[in-house]
Amino acid sequence: TVVTRFAPSPTGYLHIGGARTALFNWLYAKSRGGKFLIRVEDTDRERSTDDAVKAIFDGLSWLELFGDEEPVFQFARADRHREVAEQLLASGHAYRDFLTADETNALRDQAKAEGRDFVSPWRNREPTVDDLAKPSTIRFRRPLDQAVVVDDAVQGSVRWESSSLDDLVIVRSDGAPTYNLAVVVDDHDMGVTHVIRGDDHLNNAARQSLIYDALGWTRPTFAHIPLIHGPDGAKLSKRHGAQAVHEYAEMGYLPEAMRNYLARLGWAHGDHELFSDEQAIEWFDLSGIGKAPARLDFDKLAHVNAHWIRLAEDDRLAKLTLDAHLAAGRALQPDDEARLLRAMPFVKDRAKTILELAAQTDFVLKARPLVLDEKTHGLLSGEGGERISRLRERLGLFQSWDVFALEAELKAFAEEEGVGFGKIGPSMRGVLTGGSVSPDIARILAALGRDEGLGRLDDALQ
Ligand code: GLU
Repeated sequence: TVVTRFAPSPTGYLHIGGARTALFNWLYAKSRGGKFLIRVEDTDRERSTDDAVKAIFDGLSWLELFGDEEPVFQFARADRHREVAEQLLASGHAYRDFLTADETNALRDQAKAEGRDFVSPWRNREPTVDDLAKPSTIRFRRPLDQAVVVDDAVQGSVRWESSSLDDLVIVRSDGAPTYNLAVVVDDHDMGVTHVIRGDDHLNNAARQSLIYDALGWTRPTFAHIPLIHGPDGAKLSKRHGAQAVHEYAEMGYLPEAMRNYLARLGWAHGDHELFSDEQAIEWFDLSGIGKAPARLDFDKLAHVNAHWIRLAEDDRLAKLTLDAHLAAGRALQPDDEARLLRAMPFVKDRAKTILELAAQTDFVLKARPLVLDEKTHGLLSGEGGERISRLRERLGLFQSWDVFALEAELKAFAEEEGVGFGKIGPSMRGVLTGGSVSPDIARILAALGRDEGLGRLDDALQ
C-alpha cells in the first residue's frame, strides 16, 4: 500500500509551500487508499523549537490534514540512525574520518586549489586502535564513477555522476546523525513508498538513493515538485505577501478553500478550478503535477474562497465572523452571534473572505442608540424625516418580518408615497446602520430583526 509523509523541520511557522507539500502527500495517500504520515525533523537542535512544532501542527490541523498515525519525531530516533551507520561501517559502505574540522578545511582548500575534489585520506586508510580512541565523523563511502539515476515522478529521469556527490558525513563527531541518513532510515522504517517534496531536495534524492542502495533497501518513488513562485514569477518571498498558513486563516480564508486552491497550485486536472476534497482525491495523480513553478494568484484564491463561503453553513460562518470581530478588538454582546447568524444569508454571497463578512456585518453589532452621521441628520430634517416616520408607523404594524415580505412592503410604501426608492434608501441605511457597508434595506431589517430594527428607527426619530 501507498505510504506518504510530510516531514517538516520545525524552525518556524507552516509555510504555504510546506502546506502544499503536505496536501499533495495527503491527497496522494488518500487517492490510493494509503496512509499519510507526519514526521517532525527536529534533528537540528539549535534551530528546532517547541513553538515551531506547535505552529506546524496548528497549521496542519487548521487545514484539516491529519496524519493516519501518531507523528514521528526524528531526534528521538537518533540511536536507530547511529545503528544503521554502524551497519554501513560494517559493510564497508562508510568509514570513520579522524580529520579535525581545521584539517578538513585545509585539505579541502588544497584540493580546490589543485582543481581536484576533496576526498578524506581516511577513505582508504585503516584506523589503528589508537586512532579509534579519537573522535571521528562517519562518512558514507560513495561508489566512484557510477551513474546515479533517479526516476522522478515529476522531473523524469535525472542523472548524476556519483563522483560528483562527495563522501557525505552521515554521523558528526558529536554522534549526531545528519539529515540525509536520518531521512533514509526513517522513510525506510516508516514504510514510506512515495516521497513527494519540494525540488530543492532533488540533489538529496541522488545522495539518499546511494544510501538506500548500499543498505540493500528499496528506494521510494520520488516526486520533486517545483517551488511556488510569486505573481511576478520570482521565488516566493515576504514581499509577495503572506507566507504563513496562519496568516491566511487570519485574513479570513476557509481551510477547504485553501486546500482547493493549494491543490491547483502546481497540479491540474483538466481545467477544473473549483472542486471538493472528494473530487481532488478521486482525480489526484503525480502525473498531473507540472514541471514549471506555479505562481501564487491572490485574485484566484479570493475567487475560490468566495465559492466556499457561499457553500458554508451559516452558523459556522457566523462563528468565524464573530471571531474576526473579537480579533479586531470589538466588545460583544450576548445576542451578537444570533444577529450575525440572521445576517449571514444576506452577506455571504458577496464576501470573498471572513474579514469581508465582518466588515459587512459590522452594522448588526452596533449598540443603540447608533451615532448617526451628518448626512443622515440632514436627510431626516423636514419632509424626509416625516416620510421615515410614516414608514416607521407602517412597519410597526407589519407582522411578517422575512426579507421578501419586507422588500414588497418597502416597494409598496415608496409607490404610495409617489417617490423613487432613492428618497428612502439612503436615510434608512443611515438610521439602521450608522452609515457602514451593508446589504440593501430589506436585508438590513431582516438581519436586525423586528425589535432592533424598529428600535433603531425610534432612536433616530425622537
Ligand atoms: N525536513 C525537510 C524540510 O523541511 C524535508 C525533508 C524531506 O521531505 O525529505 O525541508
